[in-house]
Amino acid sequence: MSNQPVELDNKQIARIADDVSRQFEAEAVHSSIIILDRCLYLLVIKGTQKRLLVSAPQAPRLEGFVGRDETVVMEDKEQPARLCECNAENAAVLRQRLSYLVPVPVGLSASIGLGDRLGLATPGHIRAVKGSGLKVFLAQQSIREMTRTERSPQQVMDDALWGVFQEGFREGFGSDADHLKTTDDIDACLAAGFTLFTFDPGDHVQTTAGLDPAELAAKFSQLPWDALQCRPADSITRYVGKCFSLDGAENLCFNEQELFGPAVKYAAAIAHVAKLYRHLASTAGDRPFEVEVSVDETDEPTSPLEHFYVVKELQRLGVAFVSLAPRFVGRFEKGVDYIGDPGQFESTFAQHAAIARTLGPYKISIHSGSDKFSVYPIAAKLARGLIHVKTAGTSYLEALRTLGRIDPGLFREILDFAHERYEEDKASYHVSADPAKLPHAADVSEEQLPGLLDDFHARQFFHVTYGSVLTTTDATGGLRFGHRLHTALQTHEADYADDLKKHLGRHVKGLKY
Ligand code: ZN
Repeated sequence: MSNQPVELDNKQIARIADDVSRQFEAEAVHSSIIILDRCLYLLVIKGTQKRLLVSAPQAPRLEGFVGRDETVVMEDKEQPARLCECNAENAAVLRQRLSYLVPVPVGLSASIGLGDRLGLATPGHIRAVKGSGLKVFLAQQSIREMTRTERSPQQVMDDALWGVFQEGFREGFGSDADHLKTTDDIDACLAAGFTLFTFDPGDHVQTTAGLDPAELAAKFSQLPWDALQCRPADSITRYVGKCFSLDGAENLCFNEQELFGPAVKYAAAIAHVAKLYRHLASTAGDRPFEVEVSVDETDEPTSPLEHFYVVKELQRLGVAFVSLAPRFVGRFEKGVDYIGDPGQFESTFAQHAAIARTLGPYKISIHSGSDKFSVYPIAAKLARGLIHVKTAGTSYLEALRTLGRIDPGLFREILDFAHERYEEDKASYHVSADPAKLPHAADVSEEQLPGLLDDFHARQFFHVTYGSVLTTTDATGGLRFGHRLHTALQTHEADYADDLKKHLGRHVKGLKY
């Protein structure tokens, strides 16, 4: 077995596709076609149904795949084939055969993570990123999103696999188990083959607002010192009265209060990350993984001193990570551009980037990173390539933009339903849309529908109500919108991919430096 695919030119690919299309009365997807170890694999589409076709001169090569046995005629020669559903069982076999379908650690390469709440966005994601030089995370979902969309880590991973297979994308991709809070979260995502584990210790971050120096000192003495594997006096020796020089920024100096503040705020979170890390490292065994630490979902911005302290302590506890997501100044609300003073963002981002270069290097990760067009160029320039940007809901918003054109009736229903759901669904998200500023379906003309996706209020409405839209059932127990939305997008797959390519392409362009 060579493990190198047969080089096929466009003519050969077209001939294979024509043969298969004719015999199965279905569209053979050119980009998916690959011949490896004398086995042909490709995707065939009939209506909205996608199937995997596997064929080889010897029937035993088809073993493992579950499907209907067929015969295909390739260049006048008959050979065995199997037509298979794109399900989890066949994904598992395909993953063993085609190594480019297995996610890999991305390391310190500049990267973008593209979440896909519908499981239909991977082809568009690949088209947006391909050739840009950015590495891409394709299976990326937080536990919160999986819960809200009722998808398992394995489903998220498999949906990405079928998209990668369809596009024939062989450049490698990462997969991000995002915002993990518990060891159970880690186990579920490790089993599904995720490679990046984003730890979110936000529940363990303490607020220090309003504490006076004596209260801070008292709290400092009561930190979980055993879990931190040191004593208060060691910590004081390590930081107080010390100045640390940074690459390209002013020194960072700690006095007693400047240690107590970050320590009280973050020590429990640091201990929690160390615990998650040890669990991951021991459970993963020899499977490759990488880690991101995120403290972006906190109320207060992460100061440079806090950033420095958190990283120093994590490193002392043996936690290795490739990226860190601080909470930045200003507002990174869902689905809309940066709200705040870009100048202030620039000066603090420069400090964060300097800390990351000095203590790491590791990447600065920007969460809720979709649509932050006004700050991408600043971040890209200052990070000097040590950057990761995560987007999650923007691909769902693009799906609705597509829907506004292809099924205005369904779009209107979803718009009115979002009005019903917004107040409840927005909890736990950073949004500020005003219901009074968003029209109801009856007030918008057909031509205006797709344009709603450029409206601040509409974007946030749709951004947080996705879970309700996708999972709410009707009186018969069927999905009220989810199924129709999927079918519409599958029927107009190319339109959705075009909208994604266009919108995410702007992100990719903004991140060039
Ligand atoms: Zn985040």
